Amino acid sequence: NINLDITTRKEYPIEVGKGLGNTVSAWLGEHYSTDSVFVVIDENVNNLHRERLEKWCQPQFKHVYYIEIPEGERSKSIQQWKEVADEILSIGVERSTPLMAVGGGVTGDLGGFVASTVLRGLPLIHVPTTLLAMVDSSIGGKTGINHNTGKNLIGAFYQPDAVFADVHFLDTLDDKEWVTGIAEILKYGAIRNPDLFKDFESLVNKSFTANEQWVSVIAESAGIKADIVQEDALESGIRAYLNFGHTFGHALEKVAGYGTITHGEAVFVGMLAACNFSAQLGHSVDITPFKSFLPLYQRQMSPLPDDVDELIEAMKSDKKVKNNMLRLVLLNSWASPYVHDCTDYSALREAWEFALSQFN
Ligand code: NAD
Ligand code: ZN
Repeated sequence: NINLDITTRKEYPIEVGKGLGNTVSAWLGEHYSTDSVFVVIDENVNNLHRERLEKWCQPQFKHVYYIEIPEGERSKSIQQWKEVADEILSIGVERSTPLMAVGGGVTGDLGGFVASTVLRGLPLIHVPTTLLAMVDSSIGGKTGINHNTGKNLIGAFYQPDAVFADVHFLDTLDDKEWVTGIAEILKYGAIRNPDLFKDFESLVNKSFTANEQWVSVIAESAGIKADIVQEDALESGIRAYLNFGHTFGHALEKVAGYGTITHGEAVFVGMLAACNFSAQLGHSVDITPFKSFLPLYQRQMSPLPDDVDELIEAMKSDKKVKNNMLRLVLLNSWASPYVHDCTDYSALREAWEFALSQFN
């Protein structure tokens, strides 16, 4: 009898802070003994924050190779994967040469996938620079690129050695990227810790500046995602809870047309719909905590589609739909999510109408 332990579970630090330079430099020095490091970096981040990266990396490595990728979702492509892999392989790389992915979710997903494939796996360090990447995409080990036939269809589970989220990066973030990340934080509040809503409301309404309060909100959110992903390694299926608001949101993104509405806006509307659906089923979900964030989203949002039939059709075509059964994440109450197989389409319609009416 041979027992192979092939679990991919691996523990790694997720550091959130303001000014992590010394921490990162020391950590790099302790963990890697190669001469070189590859820094796969978003073009905007490269323009805005290059100096910070140099301070982090230069003391530890003789060669720091920056590989810039164009900003935007289109970089999650087979072509871009090939360009980065080509560059790394032609410069020369060993199994122990680390790759640092510095940028938003796009850079993390692409850079992570390159790291998982080149030489069958290079050490990976995530340096998320958007709010969404800090609280969501850099945690959980999903990496990948898009295919003509759909998003995230090619990829791998690949865990990093560490995640360093320095809120200094957020100083240069556009409002719309803040608002996108805020939706995911509200999601964590809804499914795990409604205390998050409390200070968050005043924080969000004051300003989008990366102060100490944000450090704790991001750390709490990242911690919730890490917990859920870790618990799911035991196959409890609770990773599905991270989809709260998303089955609605994905449909909205699709019907509105990608690019006309951000992911976070769509998810926010989707969470309103999911709360309403939950309330219709008699669960005690008072939507008040979410309502206080409405102005933030109303301010940004362009007109929403109003054809509810089309939205429901789009929900049914979501890749996560099984046997034509719409699975929705709903709430028994705040912090108590569950998966509901939807059969009542009139309630679904009403949930959509409620959510959309908040914006029209
Ligand atoms: P993004 O990476 O496209 O970044 C958004 C924009 O912000 C880009 O224009 C980028 O150039 C810019 N930017 C990044 N950091 C900046 C900074 N500090 N200052 C100024 N501008 C900055 O988008 P995103 O919202 O971070 O990520 C979205 C992607 O993440 C999607 O492709 C999605 O599929 C993926 N995602 C992955 C997971 C996962 O588990 N792997 C989870 C959620 C989302
Ligand atoms: Zn999301």
